[in-house]
Amino acid sequence: MADPAHTSGSDDREIGEAPIHTRAIRAGSDADRDQSGLSPGLHRSSAYGFESADRASAVHEGEQPGHFYGRMGSPTQQALEEAVAELEGGEAGLAFGSGMAAISSLLLTVLEPGDHVVAPSALYATTSSLLDGLLEDHGVDVTYVDGTEPEDFAEAIRGDTGLLYAESPANPTLDLVDLEAVADLGRAEGVLTVADNTFATPVNQRPLEEGIDVVVHSATKYLGGHGDVVAGALAGPEELLGRVRWETLKHLGGVVAPDSAWLVLRGIRTLPVRVERHNRNALEVARWLEEQPEVVRVHHPGLTSHPQHDLARRQMAGFGGMVAFELEGMEPARRLVDDLELCTLAVSLGDVATLIQHSASMTHASVPAERRRAAGIRDGLLRMSVGLERPGDLIADLDRALGDD
Ligand code: PLP
Repeated sequence: MADPAHTSGSDDREIGEAPIHTRAIRAGSDADRDQSGLSPGLHRSSAYGFESADRASAVHEGEQPGHFYGRMGSPTQQALEEAVAELEGGEAGLAFGSGMAAISSLLLTVLEPGDHVVAPSALYATTSSLLDGLLEDHGVDVTYVDGTEPEDFAEAIRGDTGLLYAESPANPTLDLVDLEAVADLGRAEGVLTVADNTFATPVNQRPLEEGIDVVVHSATKYLGGHGDVVAGALAGPEELLGRVRWETLKHLGGVVAPDSAWLVLRGIRTLPVRVERHNRNALEVARWLEEQPEVVRVHHPGLTSHPQHDLARRQMAGFGGMVAFELEGMEPARRLVDDLELCTLAVSLGDVATLIQHSASMTHASVPAERRRAAGIRDGLLRMSVGLERPGDLIADLDRALGDD
């Protein structure tokens, strides 16, 4: 079957037939032990009562399953954790109040003072400021590499390297990391590997199947999918995620609110359907942008002009809803977003509505200019999260705004 994400010849994919379409509908629903409702239960309780001292101590000691206090988990949170684990193919999941709570809790659990991290320079800005700020203060050293070159990861590894970090496709440049190559390297060197799968989603890419140890998500984005929730998640080995829960989440308290967990669970039910449409719309918009004389460059893994298109075809089932494109510098880029009407000028992504933002002055303004340049974030770069509107309407909006300049 031709994948609807691809409108031309050799790019056939088969997401429509993938098992994730069925899994997403029920993922996590077993966690609601009370079978009275068909939608997951929303448990807002801050504490849970017990019938006996024996049962209370068994749950507190982790000897029996159950919940005792909302910071350590709730049935709704558990349902989300099981859903994320199932979709990513992980042994376990762990949910948080934001993507950054997930990332920081994981890194603070696995990294000790004196440890070294290798990460790509094209990276979500707050992940890199976490590495350069809080973690550096904590005694962690970071080397940024060109994430598109697996050899650069290999060359940067030292005796004290404790973690290889990947984000693919990267925010905002849509550069890819060869996840299998990084996973192999980590395994060969005995170094933990982590991949941020926010842009791709488990519909388009499953890093754990490539051999990566832990996946991180901003569930605020495609998993939630409707721009109405902030949440985060991890998927990976049960023992490691247990350590993150009991050593770090417990102390830093970055727990997901039950209402937020419920909204993400509801979003997950339609994730594969939404992502298919995001994929298709983004490819259509990217191909149109490539034809426009005002556009200097378009970045989208589904374009044959993307330098890593072959890798995208190997490790992604679909190419995602994110497109980046460049105009001739800061001023034309800022004028364009001012002139758009349908596409909303806003950060965040993965929403049903199309959002566009100017990376150098918005999401990545805090990244030092030199590192922005090294990561390919030029002043004219715009990042677009292509929504579920009719692609022709989005193209008409872009066409009018480009023509206004
Ligand atoms: N990872 C990526 C790739 C992101 O784009 C973001 C946010 O934009 C995050 C992590 C952080 O997620 P949150 O904003 O939910 O904390």
